[in-house]
Amino acid sequence: MNSKRIYLDNAATTPLRADVVEAMREAAADADYNPSSLHAEGRRAAGVLDSARDRIAAVLGAHRNEITFTSGGTESDNLALAGTVRAAARGSRVACSAVEHHAVLDALRALGEDGYRPAVLPVDGDGLVDLEAFAQTLNSGAALISVMYANNETGVVQPVAALAAAARMHQITFHTDAVQAPRWLPPDVAALGVDLLSLSAHKFGGPKGVGLLYVRRGTLLEPLFAGGGQEFGRRPGTENLAAIAGMAAALEFATSERPGVSERVRLLRDRLESGLRSIPDVRINGGGAERLPNICNASFAGLESAALLVALDLAGIAVSAGSACTSGSLEPSHVLAAMGLEPRWGRGAIRFSLGPETAQIEIEHVLEMLPGLVADLRRPSAGAASSTRGRGDG
Ligand code: PLP
Repeated sequence: MNSKRIYLDNAATTPLRADVVEAMREAAADADYNPSSLHAEGRRAAGVLDSARDRIAAVLGAHRNEITFTSGGTESDNLALAGTVRAAARGSRVACSAVEHHAVLDALRALGEDGYRPAVLPVDGDGLVDLEAFAQTLNSGAALISVMYANNETGVVQPVAALAAAARMHQITFHTDAVQAPRWLPPDVAALGVDLLSLSAHKFGGPKGVGLLYVRRGTLLEPLFAGGGQEFGRRPGTENLAAIAGMAAALEFATSERPGVSERVRLLRDRLESGLRSIPDVRINGGGAERLPNICNASFAGLESAALLVALDLAGIAVSAGSACTSGSLEPSHVLAAMGLEPRWGRGAIRFSLGPETAQIEIEHVLEMLPGLVADLRRPSAGAASSTRGRGDG
């Protein structure tokens, strides 16, 4: 066990599956041409692209021309917000929840600088969007509301179907960032009733640098980039064929394996949490809400998460810190801060995110190591935390 590392950072990225690599290799070998070319080679490439689009559309319950391929989740979120809002009148209101990924939050802020009126909706102590603030936004005639399907730091699942239905009644376009969902919850656009939905392949066993935006027919959307007419005029640029074929394969694997994998991983996560609860001064963030089965965000009072992250890393265990380093000091993440966590909890937050490959023996090993590491860091002499660096909010 000591030589083999334990990877509990699947919310940041997932290992690329061998069978997905094989699907990418086949696509590259068969059709490494430009799908927009009219010759036989180009038509072969277009066939591979069409087939990937059809298979993805089938998983999402969408029409093929509602799928726009992008360079990943960040671009998909930006296209959803800026693309639809710029198609609306300047001065329109646009809203998202306070616990969104920065790809949504920062896109919203940028729209504010462009003359639109951004609103950030508060959340409750578990990270669920405040329904009163949501209802007020509905009545404000907003152009777009964006609320994520499941949170990347806590795993908390929002009631997206109900929110989207309410937005529809007010003729407000509704976007959901479903980047963390596909391995655990179906990204079924009809059941969710959303107009726009973002995915990123590297969160479900596919390659990095590829994702998609589902755009319901009739939703007005302006492209972010100038260029060609690819992707139904929504996203110019030659498509990354092998990566898209890999994403289609990964989404199909995630879908067919979901029921068994979700249940198995939920049991492991629950085992991890019951062990964590036996350590003094630990709390599970978002624990009162429905959550993805693979994420556990735990706060350890009396220590700094970066120090625990480093100690775990040295012990062969890869996790993420639930706090961000801003100008040399650790701040609770914007997600935990929005949930109203006191700083003593926010500073010591760690995210464990399991994957389909996580084994029971690995969780037991983590639980054997943690109490000692936590106790060492809580000793007064451990005050000088190891060096910290900023992070993305994957
Ligand atoms: N949205 C969420 C919820 C995420 O977890 C991530 C991951 O970092 C992103 C968006 C961005 O996706 P990508 O890394 O593909 O740009």
